[in-house]
Amino acid sequence: MSWKTLDDLDLAGKVVLTRVDINVPIEDGRVTDATRIERIVPTVRDILKAGGKPVLLAHFDRPKGKVVPGMSLKPLQPVLQEHLGVPVHFAEDCIGGPAKAAVAALPEGAVLLLENTRFHAEEEKNDPAFAASLAALGDVYVNDAFSAAHRAHGSIEGIAHLMPSAAGRLMQAELTALESALGTPDRPVVAVVGGAKVSTKLDLLGNLVRKVEYLVIGGGMANTFLAAKGISVGKSLAEHDLADTAREILKKADEAGCEILLPLDIVVAREFKANAPNEVLDVNDCPDDAMILDAGPITAERIAEVFANCRTLIWNGPLGAFEIEPFDTATVAAARKAAELTRDGRLTSVAGGGDTVSALNQAGVADDFSYISTAGGAFLEWMEGKTLPGVAALGK
Ligand code: AMP
Repeated sequence: MSWKTLDDLDLAGKVVLTRVDINVPIEDGRVTDATRIERIVPTVRDILKAGGKPVLLAHFDRPKGKVVPGMSLKPLQPVLQEHLGVPVHFAEDCIGGPAKAAVAALPEGAVLLLENTRFHAEEEKNDPAFAASLAALGDVYVNDAFSAAHRAHGSIEGIAHLMPSAAGRLMQAELTALESALGTPDRPVVAVVGGAKVSTKLDLLGNLVRKVEYLVIGGGMANTFLAAKGISVGKSLAEHDLADTAREILKKADEAGCEILLPLDIVVAREFKANAPNEVLDVNDCPDDAMILDAGPITAERIAEVFANCRTLIWNGPLGAFEIEPFDTATVAAARKAAELTRDGRLTSVAGGGDTVSALNQAGVADDFSYISTAGGAFLEWMEGKTLPGVAALGK
């Protein structure tokens, strides 16, 4: 699909309603991770450069349609000012009198932040009148909140239909990367899906087996598949009730010509803790009293071989219990191989999801991937093949 970007809009002298995701973690009044704020800087700068007046629309936390003072966006005003390097004004409501007055008073070169859109219940209901009140504040709409694009909310979906709309730079980068990984990728494509449970990633697996040549299944999820194939997994985390579903996915993959890679060898331990005594065994030899916590070296080698034969990699979820050493070994080895191939220009690598980003950071390779999405739910829904309402609304 195609979408408009900032370059398609005339922004000079326009009030640019800009949806951003600045839902940053705050502890004791201090922002502990400003990544989301840093990522909107190019969009705001480009709007200012083009002579537009950026008016930021954003949600914060889950106030459930009520004014909750502890969930105000006001504390972010100085933080935004520091990162953007221009004056940032604040309006105590995102619609109505206070918002209109603040927009009217906004000088050129400055940015306006409007109060939490979720203080209005109509935001999450995608109420048309609410979207119209937002739209009435500006001339054009820019969505830079890919991580919220799976929500059909007023400031994300409804508003986009009411005025000229486009993707901001961050949204554009996310969409371009995801399109290159799953839309029109260089083939062969390998997907890595790991993590704790199959039940949270059923749609994902169902979609991927139709789209990729290789699917590496790792982590606790792999145990469910091994068990479904009649392999004993001892005390491992596994969803035995999903055996039929797992077998169906394997069958679908087979029909679609997608090769599934499950662990060939395993790292087992008796306790789920760092440096628990462990051993590497053949996948068929898991003792009854042990847990599989990582894939073994033969599996890691096979994954590396597959990566080397592919042109595109899309990755969500760790291959083992990566938070506790040494059970991060297979994840780190696979991540390093992907990074090396990417650096050599042989692989386009796209990864996303909270745990995946932490695992790649742990492996020290996050900067070497072609693209890392920090969006959790939206990234997964994209991988599931779902249409994201916030993206569809920007369609050309
Ligand atoms: P998810 O949120 O679904 O991506 O799952 C990530 C979590 O799965 C991490 O906390 C990992 O520690 C956990 N995990 C991965 N492999 C295993 C395993 N073999 N046994 C238990 N937990 C695992």
